[in-house]
Amino acid sequence: MNNQLRPVDLVNQPAPFQDRYKILHKLYDQLCKCYNRTGRSKRLELLAVKLEAQVAKSSKTPQSYRFTMGILFRDLLKYKGDLKKISIADKPLIGTSKITPSVITTKHAALEALGKLLMTEEQFKKNRFITRKKITQEDRTSSTTQLPDYVVCVRCGLKFQRKLIMTPATCRYHPMKKQYNKITKVYEYHCCGETSNSTSELRFGCKTYTHHVYKHDSYEELRQISSFVDTGSEEGQSNVLALDCEMGFTSLGYEMIRLTIVDFFTCETVFDRIVKPLGKVVDLNSEFSGVHKIDPNDCLTYGETITQVVGPDIINKNTILIGHGFENDLNVMRVTHDKVIDTSVLYPRGHMKRSLKDLSFELLSRKIQTGEHDSSQDAIATMDIIKKSLGISLEQKEWQ
Ligand SMILES: [Zn+2]
Ligand SMILES: [Zn+2]
Repeated sequence: MNNQLRPVDLVNQPAPFQDRYKILHKLYDQLCKCYNRTGRSKRLELLAVKLEAQVAKSSKTPQSYRFTMGILFRDLLKYKGDLKKISIADKPLIGTSKITPSVITTKHAALEALGKLLMTEEQFKKNRFITRKKITQEDRTSSTTQLPDYVVCVRCGLKFQRKLIMTPATCRYHPMKKQYNKITKVYEYHCCGETSNSTSELRFGCKTYTHHVYKHDSYEELRQISSFVDTGSEEGQSNVLALDCEMGFTSLGYEMIRLTIVDFFTCETVFDRIVKPLGKVVDLNSEFSGVHKIDPNDCLTYGETITQVVGPDIINKNTILIGHGFENDLNVMRVTHDKVIDTSVLYPRGHMKRSLKDLSFELLSRKIQTGEHDSSQDAIATMDIIKKSLGISLEQKEWQ
C-alpha cells in the first residue's frame, strides 16, 4: 500500500481519520481502474486526495460522508471516470474554481435541489415545530385549558401574575450566562464581568427594566391568543421565500412586530412591514429587534399582515420557506407550513444550534447583527447561506 497517500487535515472531520484513510485508498484504486493505470500515478493520487477532501468538506456527519462517497464511487463507475459528469453535493467536480459556473441555473434545478433540504417530519418533531399534524392530534385529545395565572419572566426568572404585566416592576438580570472561572474559582457573568462573590448591587443584574416579560411556547397557550392559519389549503405557484420576523414583548406574551420576506430567485423584498401586535406593547426589545416604535400611520395589524402574506401570491401551499430557528417565526405568525428549510437545523454545532450571526460569518464571511438585528439583513443572510451551500451564485437574478 502507498503510505504517502493520506487525507488532508480538516478542522471539522466528518469521520475518523482511519476511515478517511481507508476510503481514500479505495478511491485511488477505483480511479486507477477507471483510467486503466497499473503503476503508481502521482496525478491520480492528487485527484483522489482532492476528491476525498471535497466529500469530507461537504459532509457534516459520518453518515453523510459515507453516503456521498458511495455516490461518488457509483458515479465513477457509471461515467467511467468522466469527471465532467460528476458532482459532489451538487457542486461539479471540475471547473468550480475558475469561472464558478453554477450548476444550477434553472428554476427547475433549483427547486429540485431545495427540495432535498426540506425538513422531514422527524426534524419538525425534534425541533418542536407546531405542525398541522400536531395541531390535529392536540385538538383531538385536549380540552381547552385556561391560560396560566402566573408566568415566569424570561429575563430575570421571577414568577409573576400575568394580569399584572402592565404594572411597573423592577426586572434586573444579566443578559449573558455566568461561567465558572477555573483560575479565580468564582462564577463570572460574561455581559459585565460581575462575579458571584461580589458584594456590589450589580451582582443582581447589569440590566434593569421596568417590566417583567414572558413568552408562551405551547400550542395550547399560543392558540388561545390567536388561532393558527394553515397554508395547506392555499393554492398557488411554487415559489421560494426567505422569511424573518422581529419580535417584541406585549401584554399577550411574545409577538411579531416586523416581518420581512425576500424572494429567493429575484432577491427582491416581497414584504417588509412593521406589525402592530395584538397585545399592548411592554417592550419592543429594540436592542435586538431594531424596532423602536410602532407608528400607527405606518404599520399593519397582525390580522392584515397574515391576510396579505398568506395566499396564492406570497405564501401558498407550494411555497418553500427558508428561515433560521424558524419555529419561532412560525409561532409568532401563528402559521403552519409543510415546506420549510431551516439553516439552524441544516448547520448545527453538535447538539446545539448555531446563531445566524455565526453561520453568516463562517459560511458567507459576512458580519451581521453587529448592533441591532434587522429582519431584512437576516432574511437575506439565511437565503444566501442556502444558495452558497447549493453552489448558486449570490448575484444570479435571472433564471431560465
Ligand atoms: Zn451582567
Ligand atoms: Zn423580570
